[in-house]
Amino acid sequence: MSFQTIRGTFDVLPDAHDTGGMTVPGSAAWRHVEATVRDVLGRFAFEEIRTPVLEPVDLVARGVGATTDIVSKEMFVVERTKETYVLRPEVTAPVMRAYLEHHLEQRGGAQRLFYVGPCFRAERPQKGRFRQFHQFGTELIGSDDPRADAETVAALRAVYDAFGVRDTRLRLNTLGDAADRPRYRDALRDYFEPYAADLSETSRARLETNPLRILDTKNPAEQALLADAPRLPDFVGGAAAEHYAEVKALLDGLGVPYVEDPRLVRGLDYYTRTVFELESDALGAQSALGAGGRYDGLAEAVGSKQPVPAVGFAAGIERLFLALDAQGYAFPQTAPPDVFVVALGGAAERATFGIAQTLRTAGLRVDFALGGRSMKAQMRAADRSGAARTVIVGDDELAAGEAQVRDLETGAQRAVPIAALAVTLAGGAG
Ligand code: AMP
Repeated sequence: MSFQTIRGTFDVLPDAHDTGGMTVPGSAAWRHVEATVRDVLGRFAFEEIRTPVLEPVDLVARGVGATTDIVSKEMFVVERTKETYVLRPEVTAPVMRAYLEHHLEQRGGAQRLFYVGPCFRAERPQKGRFRQFHQFGTELIGSDDPRADAETVAALRAVYDAFGVRDTRLRLNTLGDAADRPRYRDALRDYFEPYAADLSETSRARLETNPLRILDTKNPAEQALLADAPRLPDFVGGAAAEHYAEVKALLDGLGVPYVEDPRLVRGLDYYTRTVFELESDALGAQSALGAGGRYDGLAEAVGSKQPVPAVGFAAGIERLFLALDAQGYAFPQTAPPDVFVVALGGAAERATFGIAQTLRTAGLRVDFALGGRSMKAQMRAADRSGAARTVIVGDDELAAGEAQVRDLETGAQRAVPIAALAVTLAGGAG
């Protein structure tokens, strides 16, 4: 019997490996990406929040929206006695749940939160689309200031700039306020109704449930129809239009490039005002690196008595890796050990076992070969490990209280008292 990873999931190994149309980078590359994300978002004063992978199914159904593909088709549901949980498909609703549950508004001011972690969607796996994937994102909760929106876009941009990702495009739009949406929805419905027979089954269903989502169509005939469809910006009221103008002015001031796209929407009612998406030309069909927007209606959708204005983005780590891969980005490798310990003879083996521990306590990374192998085999293992130095102890050295320290690059070797090894090697003097 043998077992494999579930389709649409992958292991992260010490070294990079190919799977599911992607080179999965080694664990050091993941740490590097996560550390860079944390560093960049930290500069925007976002603080990390970690929420459970399991959430109540109703939170996700309400928070993400019953008409979305995510909720209607893609949830991994976990039944447990009387409860139904779901493996989180995204992190915005969970973060809002945590904000409300823990009254984070009491910390004062708007809360700047970020997360990094796995999400789960039962989508058809393909390049850039997995069933367990990883997102990082921000949620700036408690302010409707246009600077919060511009800051969110700027933070998303800054992450990709930190990696030097090229050939990206940031699309920007405003959805207007909650009151603007029904008018636009009706106008879209009126426009498409006469063409209902020409629409795909999916779009026909969306005509009833959520006509805004027809704007997402990839069907060329429907896209042609969209050319003359009513445009969202024409339905946006004064306050939202002013807010949008200010967001754009702020981005212009920062020199953050964007293109306006009146067809960029998010189908959910709680999305308001700013929406944006960052795309890369290097990704093929799954071109979105990340996306976000303002969701002033979410808090109430998941049980808040008061509206809580908020804005955020979510971005996929796998997509970032694909973009970096396409431009030949050199990821860091796990650092080799500082020291490889070589023991000749049974007494030396026992002694070096303790020496390795002493050196580790002094802060060095130390490895040695298991299995009582020959000097030659141990030296080969030392070479393969990439360690800069070996510490060699035989029975003669042991009797003299000394070890041989060899520099593996130059081959230079000298005797060092065993009692002085930690100081010599950790101090960099060896
Ligand atoms: P969404 O919450 O759908 O807006 O997704 C935000 C970002 O997460 C997308 O722009 C992608 O970068 C990434 N993403 C979403 N779904 C997947 C998936 N199934 N596999 C890999 N990345 C994904």
